[in-house]
Amino acid sequence: MAQHSNRKRPNILVTGTPGTGKTTTSSALAEATHLRHLNIGDLVKEKNLHDGWDNHLRCHVVNEDLVCDELEDMMEEGGNIVDYHGCDFFPERWFDRVIVLQTENSVLYDRLSKRGYTGDKLTNNIECEIFQVLLEEAKESYPEETVVALKSDTIEDISRNVTALTDWVRMWNPTS
Ligand code: ADP
Ligand code: MN
Repeated sequence: MAQHSNRKRPNILVTGTPGTGKTTTSSALAEATHLRHLNIGDLVKEKNLHDGWDNHLRCHVVNEDLVCDELEDMMEEGGNIVDYHGCDFFPERWFDRVIVLQTENSVLYDRLSKRGYTGDKLTNNIECEIFQVLLEEAKESYPEETVVALKSDTIEDISRNVTALTDWVRMWNPTS
């Protein structure tokens, strides 16, 4: 695996449709590796990195430039796990690994219903998963060898993914 950056610790992007387990996986990985977990959704709310509220989709309208400005120094330094359901607006150079979590449709449907998603918000997210929108977005935005799709249907999947990623982080050696 080629390593392009000279960061002492790698930056990992954990992306995927809402409900695929990004936050659960990222916090377990952060605990195991002591990398910094950056939940972009929370950061957007805390620091007001948005242009208001979308009433129809019931979410904030993220200001992508503000988010990138906020993250730049930390990403430069390295050692971050970025947890977000989008990936095309981050600079390509930021990430050493891009993980796309994927969940079987019926499993995801139950998770999102439990979370209180209904109507268009539920349908849009299920379609997003069916059409592998995040995997396509990741492949278009990052080098092929950086992007890895991982199954996230069960708790066992999470443990296996976290173990594999923890090993990868431990093996990390900056170039130069
Ligand atoms: P995301 O951050 O991608 O929206 P979360 O990590 O918040 O997803 O997970 C959403 C819900 O689904 C949580 O209740 C979580 O416990 C559950 N969940 C996520 N991934 C899995 C998995 N692989 N196996 C079982 N439950 C999961
Ligand atoms: Mn989340």
